[in-house]
Amino acid sequence: MGLRLPLRRSASFTPDHPALLEVPGPAALKMEANVLVMGADNVGKSALTVRFLTRRFIGEYGDMEFIYSHNLTVDGREILFHIWDVPCSQDQADQGSSEEKRIQWADSFVLVYSICDRASFNILPLKVQFIKAAKEGLSQEKVPIVIVGNKRDLHHQRVVSSEEGRLLALSLDCGFYEVSAAEAYHGALMVFHGLAERIPDTRLALKKGTRIRGIVKSMSAVFARKRTDSL
Ligand code: GDP
Ligand code: MG
Repeated sequence: MGLRLPLRRSASFTPDHPALLEVPGPAALKMEANVLVMGADNVGKSALTVRFLTRRFIGEYGDMEFIYSHNLTVDGREILFHIWDVPCSQDQADQGSSEEKRIQWADSFVLVYSICDRASFNILPLKVQFIKAAKEGLSQEKVPIVIVGNKRDLHHQRVVSSEEGRLLALSLDCGFYEVSAAEAYHGALMVFHGLAERIPDTRLALKKGTRIRGIVKSMSAVFARKRTDSL
């Protein structure tokens, strides 16, 4: 089976963190970037993505596969992120080639593990190597990658320390955040803000005028089921 092209969805919001998000001036640069959210199953990739897009945590995310579009202004640059939230691993044989195609599509990467799941942490060096081999090639430019330790709220089940996470990210030249998608929006915002800071202008495509349509209906339908906000 070839790469399934996911549905494209858009969401927009008005930032309320003035310390983090600058109001774009008339000369603000408008760019767009493709972000791939990767990691083992069940680590909270969808929870983190949905938290960033909507500020909400809904608990169960099913196996949706979307590319979401979302605006963020960082350091005077208005970036339209296209975020691909990869669903649970499907057909094993298909996995490698699909992942390669997704990596080619992306300009920047969010690699998520769970602090309660050692295996999800252990696979990261290989993932980073794979991404770097595919993206850096002969160029000396660094690939923007942020490593995220999720489920920080589950203290008693922690098996990966913050130091281990930080050291791994340092050794792989990646950004690092520990967050709880379940507990707060701020961590998710920091992740994408930090990622944006790592993307040089040369890696951003000029915006092609993609239309932002507001929160998607299908997402709203899911939220109607369960809401556990903790802003
Ligand atoms: P994915 O397979 O990586 O996309 O993982 P999901 O986003 O679907 O989350 C998997 C499970 O972990 C769900 O039951 C979520 O409710 C839960 N989850 C996600 N993030 C957190 C978190 O920060 N804390 C806790 N306690 N649970 C979380
Ligand atoms: Mg998911």
